[in-house]
Amino acid sequence: MTDAPASARNERGEWRPAGRIAPAPINHWPPRPGAVLRWCVGFPGYLWPTNAFWLAVTLVTWTWLTPELAAMQSLELWWIALLLGRNLALTLLLFGGLHLTLYVFAWQGEALRFTLKPFATDSGRFRFRQQVRDNMFHALVYGVPVFTGYEVLTYWGFANGFLGYAGADVGPVLFWGWCMALLILTPVVHSVHFYFAHRLLHTRALYRTVHVLHHHNVEIGPWSGLAMHPVEHILYFSTVVVQWLVALHPVNALFQIHIAIFNAATAHTGFEKVKLGKHLAVEGGSYFHYLHHKYFECNYGGSLAALDKLFGTYHDGSDDAHTAMRRRQRAIHKTEAA
Ligand SMILES: [Zn+2]
Ligand SMILES: [Zn+2]
Repeated sequence: MTDAPASARNERGEWRPAGRIAPAPINHWPPRPGAVLRWCVGFPGYLWPTNAFWLAVTLVTWTWLTPELAAMQSLELWWIALLLGRNLALTLLLFGGLHLTLYVFAWQGEALRFTLKPFATDSGRFRFRQQVRDNMFHALVYGVPVFTGYEVLTYWGFANGFLGYAGADVGPVLFWGWCMALLILTPVVHSVHFYFAHRLLHTRALYRTVHVLHHHNVEIGPWSGLAMHPVEHILYFSTVVVQWLVALHPVNALFQIHIAIFNAATAHTGFEKVKLGKHLAVEGGSYFHYLHHKYFECNYGGSLAALDKLFGTYHDGSDDAHTAMRRRQRAIHKTEAA
């Protein structure tokens, strides 16, 4: 590997960005409060446009596509089936839409795609010997029912007063202030939970029996995002439990589940950016997470590089980081062999 002066594709068709990955200011130590604040409210930044757009999707879902809370006091088939149906539709629209746009219609060609290798179409690693079909199978048959299950438990718990500190009279200002604060913190909660859950999945026993399924995807595409063993789905979406413990309103739990779905799709597009027009492109992929799929033992955080930096597992795409990762791997394997 060499440090290319500009983003470039090597002879194997692998794309890399110019220089090192530059994580968001929140990942810097010592902290730079001014830079963090500018990043939080700036465009593009933490709030705009991506997380604000996802929040709008959640609010629409809560307002118009979710039954009244009072109607969900008892577990009945009609509303559980309703949630399952709308979640299937959401997943097909988001993951399917990205796959069709980027790979079937290929609107932006290979521009900013991490690799030129096609998805496997005749490999024993995948069900039906097809990578995309196998990924769709795991996302739709296991993933959607698992996160729908968490959503069902959330509404049932809130409707019955088991969750949300029912009866706690905190006043409207504190109530909605707390609700807003949790909405703003949701992506951070997701990233922290994801890092530790992901480290757990890379322990030898869990990797071999569970997480290896996700890593069958060396070349990644949108459907790779939820291509997980059902045990991994249960662990991945368990981040909603944080909201069960602290939220006063069920919309906080819904947003936590949605962020997990949306991040899974966008972190695996296989492209650095998704172009929306001639002059407009949004962060569509994650070279940071792509390196995790390529090398396995680095970049465990979804987007929160700070934890990888703290625990020495950070890879910024440079030669130095690559050498440090190989040294770390040799040391771990030596200890395991001893
Ligand atoms: Zn992944
Ligand atoms: Zn992994």
